[in-house]
Amino acid sequence: MGTLKLFLMETILILNKFMKGLEFPLFKTKVENPPKFDLTDVKQRKEYFELKAGEEIEKLRKYLKENSFIVYLLGKKNSGKGTYAKMFKEIVDKDMVEHFSIGDMIREVDEELRDVEKKKEFINFLEKNYRGFVPLEEIIKSLENRTTSKLLPSELILALAKREITKIGRKAIFVDGFPRELDQVSYSLFFRDLIEYRQDPDIFVLIDVPEAVIDERIKHRVICPLCQTSRSLKLLPTKEIEKKFHLICDNSECQGTRMVVKEGDELGIEPIKERLNIDENLIKQAFSLYGIPKVLLRNSVPKDKAKEFVDDYEITPEYSYEWNEKNREVKIIEKPWQVLDDDGVSCYSLMPPPVVVSLIKQLTEALDL
Ligand SMILES: [Zn+2]
Repeated sequence: MGTLKLFLMETILILNKFMKGLEFPLFKTKVENPPKFDLTDVKQRKEYFELKAGEEIEKLRKYLKENSFIVYLLGKKNSGKGTYAKMFKEIVDKDMVEHFSIGDMIREVDEELRDVEKKKEFINFLEKNYRGFVPLEEIIKSLENRTTSKLLPSELILALAKREITKIGRKAIFVDGFPRELDQVSYSLFFRDLIEYRQDPDIFVLIDVPEAVIDERIKHRVICPLCQTSRSLKLLPTKEIEKKFHLICDNSECQGTRMVVKEGDELGIEPIKERLNIDENLIKQAFSLYGIPKVLLRNSVPKDKAKEFVDDYEITPEYSYEWNEKNREVKIIEKPWQVLDDDGVSCYSLMPPPVVVSLIKQLTEALDL
């Protein structure tokens, strides 16, 4: 009776874990007696990566001299996919690594269609390269009248991606935004054949970010109305802060312009909830794929595990402000940013560099270097 009960309880525990979602393992980036780095400083960031993943970075650089790879980045909208890929490129090899965003590609097509000559070339290209169920005229029309991100057929995305990757040349590529729908996951299994990277390894990189992190990133985001630079009152302030707490754009050309909240941002993740759910299902589906290596990245570390796994300066700080009437200046208060993850566990959110250290190390292993 006792064993049966134990067995049942264990089964329930395993089922619970499964139902809650996927387990992304914690990654240890803590080292003994580390110097403290300012991870927002480019030079110190380089030294940080040298210390924490120098050996792996060398291996990757050597590998990239003769070889490449394709990474599919899968993470929820606003999870920082682009940030991680660009930092990997900055640190490992600026010339041999490319971040390829499907969203940016579509925006560029938008511009092409506004230019008569380029539009002609574009249609010409599709006449030769597009094969699919939706007629070409209809596709052009929906590309031209796009108000929202109306769904474009996967066959079109693939033809355009091929065109774009040909322009990039043979480099390691981080694909951001494909697969975007569930039916595209199986396409991604043949993607490297399609773009003639047949022998190159392909890898899924799955990113786990608590929705509370995405929510607060949106809610506290402010932009400069002149240069469009994006910052955060809570998470990424500028150098100068105005009384009653407005950020002042750092760009000298903007001459002290006050940054503002973008309309709708106060709603946080509410308007993108559906997108986040699709993204979650995409991650789950990719998780269960066989025959393709997977790298699992997590943005958060439970509060009670932080001391064991990460160094203090790897945790994202949050900022709050007080007005000091006597000195007539804003006092900035900094403390570790704490959020509840999707399971309600109290967590810290990590700065991008430790996540990229984890990416570098896991990728080196996935490539068998
Ligand atoms: Zn500005």
